[in-house]
Amino acid sequence: MDDIEAGLTAMEKAAAHAIAYRRQIASAPATPTAGYGAMFEAFNAPLPDEGGDAVAIIEELVASGTAGIRASTAPRFFGWVIGNSHPAGVAADWLASAWGQNAGNVLAAPTASAIEAVAARWLLELLHLPTTASVGFATGATVANFVCLAAARSEMLRRAGWDVEADGLFGAPEVRVLIGADAHATVFSGLKYLGFGERRVVTVETDALGRMLPAAFERALGTDGAPVIAIAQAGQINTGASDPFVELAPMARERGAWLHIDGAFGLWARAAPAMEEQVLGVEQADSWATDGHKWLQTPYDCGFAIVRDAEAHRRAMAISASYLPPPEGGERDPSAYVPELSRRARGFATWAMIRQLGRAGIAEMVERNCRVARNMAERLAAEPGISLVCQVVLNQFMVRFEGSDAADGDALTLEAVRQVQADAIAFIGASQWRGQWVMRASVCSWATTDADGDLAATAVIAAWRRVQARKA
Ligand SMILES: *Cc1c(COP(=O)(O)O)cnc(C)c1O
Repeated sequence: MDDIEAGLTAMEKAAAHAIAYRRQIASAPATPTAGYGAMFEAFNAPLPDEGGDAVAIIEELVASGTAGIRASTAPRFFGWVIGNSHPAGVAADWLASAWGQNAGNVLAAPTASAIEAVAARWLLELLHLPTTASVGFATGATVANFVCLAAARSEMLRRAGWDVEADGLFGAPEVRVLIGADAHATVFSGLKYLGFGERRVVTVETDALGRMLPAAFERALGTDGAPVIAIAQAGQINTGASDPFVELAPMARERGAWLHIDGAFGLWARAAPAMEEQVLGVEQADSWATDGHKWLQTPYDCGFAIVRDAEAHRRAMAISASYLPPPEGGERDPSAYVPELSRRARGFATWAMIRQLGRAGIAEMVERNCRVARNMAERLAAEPGISLVCQVVLNQFMVRFEGSDAADGDALTLEAVRQVQADAIAFIGASQWRGQWVMRASVCSWATTDADGDLAATAVIAAWRRVQARKA
């Protein structure tokens, strides 16, 4: 077999392995049977001097690596906030790789660029955001937040008479950055990259669900006329709650502040009529970051940076180079909305997932995931010794396993989490909230049914009884 044929056969083999893996996913171990150490050992060979055979390489990857693959596409996977990598999105993504498209610009990748433009419009319609907003297809919400905040920085400083793209931050008017006390850690990374600093922020007090208190927000905005960027969120990582945009947005507008929303998963409540009230008023913001690889179920990686002021978005991101003329016909150049030039064609998987589920399918999935979370939480809370940490408002919930005191409760909670993971009927992780350990579940998968929620709740209760029996 020549190298070309071997490579093509390797693609076939990889597809066959991938399909076989997904066929058995419901019965795959909920926790990988091998961890990092074993996997490092399995692959830690000397740098190869000579090339190898493509088929053998893929066979080796599958044979050695499968034990350390986490079953995050299993229907009862409730760890972190991870989407399902839906087969339709994976298939489209295979083509993105196989076609080898560099989705940097319209000339290099006409289909990839055009499909992004269409998927961008669909996204805005799905999320009921301004149809004139611009959309950058990024790696995830971390980078999408960064992109949106770069646009915010550009525009707020431009209004203050400063060109940050040309002149940088030294000597620029000071920008005040407000952020809720329960914001996601990754937003601080964006602030770090942008020269705002992780620490140089005004932290706004939050309520029991992690929502900014409007009075505290108003105070933090200040009245001194300094440029302000306010960062709110849709979907707190532990509680699923969103900031009260209906109250915050008019305050920000009145003050001339830029309001950004980190809506990595929570923004998708906007796509589900039954959950929409969770994010009322979110459309009044100036920018929104969200993920494709969480609730839209695209494969990793995929996120979207959405900016009301498309000009500010392009000013912050567009790359100019002699060999990269801007499109003549007003076409949308993908690289004008994200930091990278050469980039993955994320439009294929996004387009495929929206086609696959449709407006109705996305609404049904979001509503079902939220219902499963609510029902699981209710069943657990009815069990002696298990208490719900706060009310369930979206797809996330936390429970605590009660001990004789706070430290004992922490220990029992971690033990219950370990037992649930060892029993392997469902995967649920631990988190910390308000200084205490909790078991935190995230229901964020197209594959999860009501029956899966029931099975998982039963498994958690059984695990808890085993933990208690050991203590007795
Ligand atoms: C997941 C998440 C992020 C980070 O998104 P990535 O896709 O991991 O980059 C940011 N904010 C919130 C609220 C999240 O849930």
